[in-house]
Amino acid sequence: MTEKNSLPAIEGGTPLRAERLPFFRPSHGEEEIAAVVETLRSGWLTIGPRSQSFRTAFLAELGLEHGWALNSCTSALFLACKVLGLGSGDEVITSPNTFAASVNVIHHAGATPVLADIELETGGLDPDSVAAAITPRTRAILAVHYGGQLCRIEELATLARERGLLLIEDAAHAFGATAKGRPPGAFGDMAAFSFYVTKNLSTGEGGFLSCRDAELENEIALMSLHGMDQGAWKRYTDRGSWFYDLSRFGYKCNITDVQSALGLVQLKRAESLLAARTRAAERYLGNLAGETALILPTVREGNLHSWHLFAPRLADGALRIDRDRFLNALAAEGVAPSLHFIPIHHHSVHREFFGDGIGESLPRSEQLYRGCFSLPLFPGILDEEVDLVSEAVLKLVRHYRS
Ligand SMILES: *Cc1c(COP(=O)(O)O)cnc(C)c1O
Repeated sequence: MTEKNSLPAIEGGTPLRAERLPFFRPSHGEEEIAAVVETLRSGWLTIGPRSQSFRTAFLAELGLEHGWALNSCTSALFLACKVLGLGSGDEVITSPNTFAASVNVIHHAGATPVLADIELETGGLDPDSVAAAITPRTRAILAVHYGGQLCRIEELATLARERGLLLIEDAAHAFGATAKGRPPGAFGDMAAFSFYVTKNLSTGEGGFLSCRDAELENEIALMSLHGMDQGAWKRYTDRGSWFYDLSRFGYKCNITDVQSALGLVQLKRAESLLAARTRAAERYLGNLAGETALILPTVREGNLHSWHLFAPRLADGALRIDRDRFLNALAAEGVAPSLHFIPIHHHSVHREFFGDGIGESLPRSEQLYRGCFSLPLFPGILDEEVDLVSEAVLKLVRHYRS
């Protein structure tokens, strides 16, 4: 490396890469394109036969029995709150290091979100902090599986059972992940999955809500389509009837056949997509191993990681610059980094809701936030791209070491 190359680009050195490597590239191929075209040609675009096949295939892939495909994970989490009867006066304990959806749906259902601290091994809720946050008004725990491995979900399930609480899993990152061989949805009353473009199984937008029994499944199906009798989408087929009845004040958050056609192909490719993510994550781990300024992601014993994210941390005080400056320096080298997540209580609307001082009661949430960053990780990432990102990280860490 020449002297000029070792100077960070943000300080006038030469960037490692001229054109910025994106954080994510979708991996939809010819098979997905053909499936969408075939669906358009079929004349049936919204919820229909492909939605039913996708629902069945998704449950079979996970080894779960009940659930319903929806238009997003946000809708799935919201319906979970509504169908489980959470509302005014109820407190729901969740994680601060998550996407806004996990907290906002509790608010929209009319209940009160309560933040408990996380633990640093998985980035998920810490069972002791959850136990300490329980009050007589607590009705449910909404546990987020962060980054692609299950949180300490068995302990949270035991706590929920002992204290008579409902348990909802936010499994937006966790399709393909298991704990002791069991998938998300095997622990809680309900689990919500996301098929957003960057997620491990992607239909552009889409979601799924699994649940523990057929009665809840029927309720989700009804509430996802105006309270219309479950087979109502069939009314335009040759077996259908013009008549329908509405038995609930329902919402409108069904999946479509176009999304489901994409989902069916992605399900067939699930194993190879996961293998590609795992390979890239292991390459990062190898490239970055031994660098003491970095805390690399670990996999909790018994967990299978879906590698939705590759999210290392900067060790506290290891560099002369803070994480924000580090990310700007990484971007200047030609790598688009990301960050999961700005804690909920740092956003203006939530800071106002939870109060300014709440961060002091969430020290591990703050610690994760201080150091965390996410590197590009997607099935189509090339080995040389992983190597270049690793080189950029190491170049900066070495330059800015305290
Ligand atoms: C992506 C995401 C969601 C929301 O998923 P959508 O399908 O976009 O609604 C919820 N929770 C977490 C943790 C997420 O990352």
